[in-house]
Amino acid sequence: MVLSSITDGISRSIESVTSGLSEALFEPVIRLGVTGLSRAGKTVFITGLVANLLDRGRMTQLSAHAAGRIDSVWLQPQPDMTLPRFDFEGHLATLTGDAPDWPESTRAISELRLSFRLRPEGFLGGLTGPRIVHLDIVDYPGEWLMDLALLDKSYADWSDEVLSRLSRRPEGAEFLATARAEDGALKLDETRAQALAALFTAYLDRARQAGWADCTPGRFLLPGDLAGSPVLTFAPLPRPASTARGSLWHEMERRFDAYKSKVVRPFFRDHFARIDRQIVLADVLGAIHRGPQALEDLRRVLADVLGAFRPGSNGWLTALLGGKRVDRILFAATKADHLHHSQHPALSGIMEAMLREAKDRAEFAGALTAAMSIAGFRATVEDQVTRDGRTLDCVKGRLADGRTVALFPGRLPEDPARLLQPARQGAERWLEAEFGLMSFVPPARMARKPGDGTPHIRLDRALEFLIGDRL
Ligand code: GDP
Repeated sequence: MVLSSITDGISRSIESVTSGLSEALFEPVIRLGVTGLSRAGKTVFITGLVANLLDRGRMTQLSAHAAGRIDSVWLQPQPDMTLPRFDFEGHLATLTGDAPDWPESTRAISELRLSFRLRPEGFLGGLTGPRIVHLDIVDYPGEWLMDLALLDKSYADWSDEVLSRLSRRPEGAEFLATARAEDGALKLDETRAQALAALFTAYLDRARQAGWADCTPGRFLLPGDLAGSPVLTFAPLPRPASTARGSLWHEMERRFDAYKSKVVRPFFRDHFARIDRQIVLADVLGAIHRGPQALEDLRRVLADVLGAFRPGSNGWLTALLGGKRVDRILFAATKADHLHHSQHPALSGIMEAMLREAKDRAEFAGALTAAMSIAGFRATVEDQVTRDGRTLDCVKGRLADGRTVALFPGRLPEDPARLLQPARQGAERWLEAEFGLMSFVPPARMARKPGDGTPHIRLDRALEFLIGDRL
């Protein structure tokens, strides 16, 4: 452990020296992390962002574009040969093709490099010629980030914690009963271990479907290329009186430790530690729709996610980072196209309240943070509907069966506490009103002006906050 953290630290600092040199001398690279739980909207966000950087007609709030400083933007082969490339072209074709649909969601880490040619600025600009800046977009599941908390835990502590969490989730009843009936002191039986891991994974899957945000270990649901390997074949068990070598419990402990050292640490070392700017996406509307408990769970997860970026949150990670840190973090509530713009400030307000709370809780300081509401791909248009003599601000979109419908999802309160407070107090349902949602699909062929990217909400403002100062 000590040795590995030292060597990790050394390789990290060599790397930062060389990348520092090339940055200073040649072409700076900004590594933008995009994360969020499954279905938060990462794939749609990145696809929309890249489409709108290649065709910048709808990016008026990006100051470098507004000032005419961006000469050109193009896609490049990415620098990391061993990472899958984010399939921008495939995802864009799905969104905008003849039968438009949502692209396949993020299942693992991927990367894409965009390069900007920028016109020189100011009096001396004419002497220096154009500048090149690279933007490496790194897409990774938020579930993997949640695993940081595992690094400090022993298998025994983790098991206790998970089993007690399970007792509060109906989806966990079956696994809990099986785990309690298990005698971990018995000799390992591989078939048994696999059955336990499969049952635990099935619970995590149901928990996620039910909208619970904390469904760690992150790789059980999103295994990347590790599906079926022994590092994923463990499950929490009550500690038996004897945990001798060769016992089921002891083997589970060994696998849990391997998960930490062979899966979690390499992710943080090779990817997380190199991020400069970060956007955290959250499906706040979806959580509100599912009810107070889902919103409360999301609030806790966002605090944990922010905690991962706090300098000193984990001793091993701090040593690895060696003083480097992410200096801007944006929390964005996605899918804002489900709301008429008159309700966007309320959605941003809820996101902001969650961020503020997360910052207080994690005693987070240093990085610049912001919250906003966005849509990576706008699937609706605004509309007004009169019902019972009242005019409602709606949105209108297409459903999978081809019908076009208008939606008034409900009115979000202007004071976020009216939702966050009952959620924290464990309310079962919203008192004031239910909040409805619909599964809109991307609109059939849209007329687009030449030079315009795909329709979105506030992608330009999001990017301005994230990297505007570097363009
Ligand atoms: P990921 O798991 O974080 O990669 O999530 P995706 O980007 O695949 O998004 C999950 C789903 O959320 C999509 O299939 C869409 O149904 C929906 N979604 C994501 N972004 C938007 C958006 O901007 N507008 C709308 N209306 N729906 C969205």
